[in-house]
Amino acid sequence: MNALVHAPHLFPVLDNELQVGGMPLSRLAERVGGTPFYAYDRRLIAERVAQLRAALPDAVHLHYAIKANPMPAVVQFMAGQVDGFDLASGGEMKIALDSPMPAHRISFAGPGKSAAELRQAAAAGVVVNLESEGEMERLAQAAQSLGLRARAAVRVNPDFELKSSGMKMGGGPKPFGVDAERVPAMLARMKALPLDFQGFHLFSGSQNLKAESLMEAQRNTFALARRLAADAPGPVRLLNLGGGFGIPYFPGEQRLDLRAVGDHLAGLLPQARKDFPEAEFVLELGRFLVGEAGVYVTRVVDRKESRGQVYVVSDGGMNHNLSATGNLGQVIRKNYPVLVGNRVAPETGAAAAVVNVVGPLCTPLDLLGDKVELGHAREGDLIAVLQSGAYGFTASPTAFLGHPPALEVLV
Ligand SMILES: *Cc1c(COP(=O)(O)O)cnc(C)c1O
Repeated sequence: MNALVHAPHLFPVLDNELQVGGMPLSRLAERVGGTPFYAYDRRLIAERVAQLRAALPDAVHLHYAIKANPMPAVVQFMAGQVDGFDLASGGEMKIALDSPMPAHRISFAGPGKSAAELRQAAAAGVVVNLESEGEMERLAQAAQSLGLRARAAVRVNPDFELKSSGMKMGGGPKPFGVDAERVPAMLARMKALPLDFQGFHLFSGSQNLKAESLMEAQRNTFALARRLAADAPGPVRLLNLGGGFGIPYFPGEQRLDLRAVGDHLAGLLPQARKDFPEAEFVLELGRFLVGEAGVYVTRVVDRKESRGQVYVVSDGGMNHNLSATGNLGQVIRKNYPVLVGNRVAPETGAAAAVVNVVGPLCTPLDLLGDKVELGHAREGDLIAVLQSGAYGFTASPTAFLGHPPALEVLV
């Protein structure tokens, strides 16, 4: 069956139909009231959090990086699952502050924060992860004019890389964070400003499936933070170790060995507690928490042949799920796991023929399945694109070609 050549996925199949939110997909589509839609499954998110808690030492807290999936209902739900949130914009700050998560458990990273965003963060009591010396001065001005002290941590651009990451965000010249060698001077200046030093934020990369690479980065992170803490204006209260935990998207990809990462962290903790006796240790994860809990669902509107190839045309594609079409930073396009969600295997028992699943946009980039074994798909069927819970809805060019946006449900 086609599903076997895909990356592993978490949604159960019952009576040949994908079950999402404990319901057959065709029934869920009726409940939602239309296609295309995204559905995010609470049970799968909660299970993922539970797996993390079981694998990681208790002293390591979990933050959710909202940019992975900022749907307000998801963020509300996550407030009851994790220990804190990480934001990357004022828009995300609004969603986070509407949730039950207390402001002091929320941190705000990202280059180019506006004066208004810094002022809001200072007023809210959110921890600002400073991305530059200039930003530190602007945050201090905001605090000054509000007559309060703002919570500030320094985002450090480390002098090491997170190897084998889908996206490298630290090491070498980067727009993110302050180069490690510049941090001592910055900390010296911070002493004179109305800022309460919280600690350090080191985020070195994303979408990593190699436990060894993550372990090495975590070792390096503790060592670098130890060096930097010598110049800090106060004790380190918050040490954000970054994250970067990846999920399998493509055939042949293996799940991250969470146990190995957790055991290794547990081994680093006794020394870390001595080095940072007042610190809370944090991992900030986005896609690892929500990516596998989401499915993007389109309906087949046409099936056509062109010179020996079959095209299954569905009512949504890159306009809603850019990443699944291979257009969000991938160097080589590969298929996300795609299924006929309402009839996973062909009823005949025969292997399905090879077809291409495309979206409705007039561009060859709008390709959800390149030569996939979904030959049994016919008009009216539901195409399910798995691993779509992160960087889907809000990471896509929804206005491109003017189709309506996808619906979104948390089930
Ligand atoms: C994007 C981002 C994350 C989340 O990355 P994932 O790959 O989704 O886990 C976490 N922290 C920072 C600073 C980020 O920019």
